[in-house]
Order: sequence, then C-alpha cells, then structure tokens
Amino acid sequence: MNDLKYCPTCGNASLNWDGEKRWSCSNCDYVLFHNVAGAVAVIIKNGDEILFTRRNQEPKKGKLDLAGGFVDPKESAENTCVRELFEEMKIKVDISQLKYLASLPNTYEYKNILYNTIDLFYEYEVSEKLELHLELSEISETIWIKKNEIIIEDIAFDSQKIFFKNYIDS
Ligand SMILES: [Zn+2]
Repeated sequence: MNDLKYCPTCGNASLNWDGEKRWSCSNCDYVLFHNVAGAVAVIIKNGDEILFTRRNQEPKKGKLDLAGGFVDPKESAENTCVRELFEEMKIKVDISQLKYLASLPNTYEYKNILYNTIDLFYEYEVSEKLELHLELSEISETIWIKKNEIIIEDIAFDSQKIFFKNYIDS
C-alpha cells in the first residue's frame, strides 16, 4: 500500500497511506478509499456432512475452503452465492433456500495487496450429495466432512476458522 506514491491527479509523489483504508494527496485534494469488500461463503450441508473445497490457487493453496467469493458491484450477496456455486461447481442454487447465518471480518492477500473483507456466511441444505463439475483452476477437489470431524487447522481463512469453532459447538 505504501508503494503507491504518485498522485494520479497532480502527479507528485505526495500520496499518503493511512495504514488502513485511505490514500490522500498532500498536494491536491485527491482521495482514494480502499474499502472493505463483501464476500460470501456457503456451507453446503447434507445431513451432518459439510462440503469443503480444496484450494488450487494462492493464497492458501492446498487448504480447505468453502464455496464462495467476492460480491460483484450491484449484486446481492444471495446472487453472489448463486453465481459462485455455479461458476465453481455447476451447482444450480435455489436462492429461496439460502439461509444467512453470520458475518465475520477477514483479510485476503492477492499479489501483495491486502484486502479487508466482510465474509457473509450462508447455509444451503441439500437432500442428496450433489453431482459436481469442478472449476479446476480454483478447486483441486471437494470433500464431504462430518461436522464433528472438522479440523480447524486445515481451514484456509481465519474468518472460517472462527465461524466453524462456533458452528461445531452449536
Ligand atoms: Zn495530488
């Protein structure tokens, strides 16, 4: 974030990063916000088993993840769930059956830029184990894990670790 020095308006090396979310120019009135990004994570559930994906890309390649991703501009979080589950696994989600559970903050580093996210957790119950067609650039495999057999350390992201600590106990 400190790498950004040059103001795109006046061209001087006068851009200051506040260490959290805002650049401002000390030479003109240019301001740029790096706001929190919305993201969804979907707990696909069949009985007492939950569907995890194994990440096939950085960050956290090889670790367990939930299906989901960043909310696009002008998109509802529920529509993000529908879009991402189709893109990643060709699951056709019935949007009326998505159940919002909780939100937790997270950070996501991509190509040396740290993004602050707010992860919105949804539950989606399925009556049978779905036939999945994986987007292999993003996911190497999927695994059904029983709720009481989830190993927190295998999970990629802090928000999901915190979520599952509470979820397992509930
Ligand atoms: Zn400037």
